[in-house]
Amino acid sequence: MKLSRRIQQLEESATLAVSSKAAAMQKQGIDVVSFGAGEPDFGTPQHIKDACTAALAAGHTGYAKPASGILAAKEAVCSKLKRENGLEYKPSQVLITVGGKEALFLATMCLLDEGDEAILPVPYWVSYPEQIKLAGAKVVPVVGDEAHSYKLTADQIAKAITPRTRVLIFNSPSNPGGFTYSPEEVKAIADVVAAHDIIVFSDEMYDRLIYGNQRFMSFAAARPDMFEKTLTFNAGSKTYSMTGWRVGYVAGPQAIISQMAKLQRQTTSGTATFNQHALAAALNGDQAPVEAMRREFERRAEYMHQRLNAIKGVTCVKPTGAFYAFPNVSGAFAALGVKGSLEFSAKVLEEAHVALVPGAAFGMDTNVRLSFATSMDNIRKGLDRLEQLLGKA
Ligand code: PLP
Repeated sequence: MKLSRRIQQLEESATLAVSSKAAAMQKQGIDVVSFGAGEPDFGTPQHIKDACTAALAAGHTGYAKPASGILAAKEAVCSKLKRENGLEYKPSQVLITVGGKEALFLATMCLLDEGDEAILPVPYWVSYPEQIKLAGAKVVPVVGDEAHSYKLTADQIAKAITPRTRVLIFNSPSNPGGFTYSPEEVKAIADVVAAHDIIVFSDEMYDRLIYGNQRFMSFAAARPDMFEKTLTFNAGSKTYSMTGWRVGYVAGPQAIISQMAKLQRQTTSGTATFNQHALAAALNGDQAPVEAMRREFERRAEYMHQRLNAIKGVTCVKPTGAFYAFPNVSGAFAALGVKGSLEFSAKVLEEAHVALVPGAAFGMDTNVRLSFATSMDNIRKGLDRLEQLLGKA
């Protein structure tokens, strides 16, 4: 059997070794505390589930018509983007997708060719480099500085732009970094990008999960001319605890959205019709559950930040968004006799029974990711174990 070159060059997730070992240990009855979750530890709010049940009862079980998404869902997306992000899209500029991931994949396939370059801020969400490679394009990684909370400066982005740059990936709040760009920082980057023929992929999956006095700005709102050069990605997944529903969306220039819809028609035919009704209910309905979840994440973020910085060899930037802490643990490598984040995570799992995600998966081998989408009791227990293993700062 000959497999395609395309699939052979696709990396298996670097997180797999640690997570499958953790699962095997749990199966043996070992009490492993996992910080691996990439989804909220809350259920989908009841009114959203009710909307899905009602849609099923009403017989909305056929193909979505059109495949690009039912009008009710597109209109709900338009109102959300106007109300919360100050962006005025028409329903025809919106595509409803199989989670945020399909939207990103369609955009990558529509905008990148072989030889093109996509600027990818490091640390990055795991699927970006793989999707870019599938399109045959070149990943141009630009590494964020810890002193700047791992956020890129406008100057760093300016230096990475070449005549072949077609796309800038921009993810705020960040998975795995847990940082959020301020409106001023977004505007400074937009000022650099606006002068070039570049489309910005603004991944705003965590826009509602921000903490402290952090403010959020959509990239498309940074300058009037960026509206026409930005794709705005979001989903029900993180905001409404709908990861398993696979409902996402993207809004952007008509000319790009219509091509992405063409590719969607030839591949998935879009996401489940009844789930699109649920997405509309999520976006139009009561937002109190989102705020309750946000407040709980905020409390956990504070706790994680304080506890992690009190551990020997660990420095942690304060999470201002999403539900991840991304500490630099390289100061503890020597004490554990390990070389990088993979060995570090394996050792911590073996000796302290705590599962972390190695930063190598996100392009930053000095760090590890800890999700705080798990109970406060688990967080306390896991951090106690980590502190016991590494010592107090
Ligand atoms: N983008 C980022 C930054 C994410 O963290 C995720 C999910 O982990 C996605 C996109 C994909 O989201 P979805 O589950 O809606 O496909």
